[in-house]
Amino acid sequence: GSTIGVLGGGQLGRMMALAGSNLGYRFIALDPTTEAPCGQVAGQIVAGYGDQEAARELAKRADVITYEFENVDAEVAALLEEEAYVPQGSRLLYTTQHRLREKRAVEAAGAKVAPYAEIASEDDLRAAADRLGLPAVLKTATGGYDGKGQWVIRSEEEIGPAYAELSRAGTELVLEQFIPFVKELSVIAARSPRGEIKTFPVAENIHVDNILHVSIVPARADASVLKEAERLAARIAESMEAVGLLAVEMFLTGDGELYVNELAPRPHNSGHYTMEACATSQFEQHVRAVCNLPLGETTLRTPVVMVNVLGEHLDAVTEAVVTGQWLSDAESGLADVPDTAATTGFNVIPKVHLYGKNGSAPKRKMGHINLLCGDVRDGLDFIQQTNIWRNQHL
Ligand code: ATP
Ligand code: MG
Ligand code: MG
Repeated sequence: GSTIGVLGGGQLGRMMALAGSNLGYRFIALDPTTEAPCGQVAGQIVAGYGDQEAARELAKRADVITYEFENVDAEVAALLEEEAYVPQGSRLLYTTQHRLREKRAVEAAGAKVAPYAEIASEDDLRAAADRLGLPAVLKTATGGYDGKGQWVIRSEEEIGPAYAELSRAGTELVLEQFIPFVKELSVIAARSPRGEIKTFPVAENIHVDNILHVSIVPARADASVLKEAERLAARIAESMEAVGLLAVEMFLTGDGELYVNELAPRPHNSGHYTMEACATSQFEQHVRAVCNLPLGETTLRTPVVMVNVLGEHLDAVTEAVVTGQWLSDAESGLADVPDTAATTGFNVIPKVHLYGKNGSAPKRKMGHINLLCGDVRDGLDFIQQTNIWRNQHL
């Protein structure tokens, strides 16, 4: 079997390795921490992402190289492209590492983004705020995640402080018009070097404190909107000649317009639902795409709600697992969804995925649960009644 090298050893790499092992591939991950989640199921090189020696070693030991996050050092990516087979190329990374380049690529594919402006000075910001109107969202062009590196500017008085704060990062900034969305949606597209493209069903995403809380599939929106969202994602993957997965985050407005928020050239948290709910998981699809195998079917087999397990939820979830209430086995029970009221009290089968991370901390992603349901309402009610997440807004 061939060996797949993964830049990054977090949970995305781990689930990629778990899926790819079943296809007979071996995995090796490069990660700075000795106990990376992926390293527990794959070989591991312990070194920084910018370490050229380590990158060379990865190139020697792997037949194919991919990545599980987009902030890989650009020089390392270029070096790997020269010394190893990186089917995704470094261009896709280069584009998605930078919000301005990314927006231009989305526009070139014929999709809409929120009106935006490039910001190089506080004067730029004042002029752009004037032109785009407030509220508006100021973001660092690179390096942001989980809402870090952004500021929603609601009044003139916030312009100075917002600029002072975000310009400290030393990267370019971008100001975006605030889109008063009714829902956030995402679509994961896969494209292989031979040009085959498939999209997964649209997920409806709810964030809490800028961290994904639940993904609901099927998304509760008009069929025409869902069709258009999938079409846009496929169109963007095609236009960028992406290889592997491309996750496309979108805003849906009240009048049915879709705006692309950002892209991720890798498996995405909002695609974890595919693990049991689709004919093929996003992780197997990614491996298939980078290895240029035929892509798998993406049909949804059952309604599903994915809920993230953060550090503050881990003890209660672990308790439910060890007492046998919740299972992780991937295949059992799909046909029994309507009959599970006896164990969970709801028409829900919880499929647990914990990442084996060392050091639980509040807000840290420690796992997720796919709630296979009769109807997504069952999954949402289940989450509310467990008293683990305690949310009022589902
Ligand atoms: P991620 O963790 O998904 O990578 P991120 O830190 O890169 O997030 P974004 O996805 O750009 O940041 O923004 C985070 C959230 O902030 C969005 O999911 C959305 O809820 C809100 N948001 C961002 N930009 C806008 C906008 N232009 N209009 C309205 N809301 C926005
Ligand atoms: Mg992001
Ligand atoms: Mg985002």
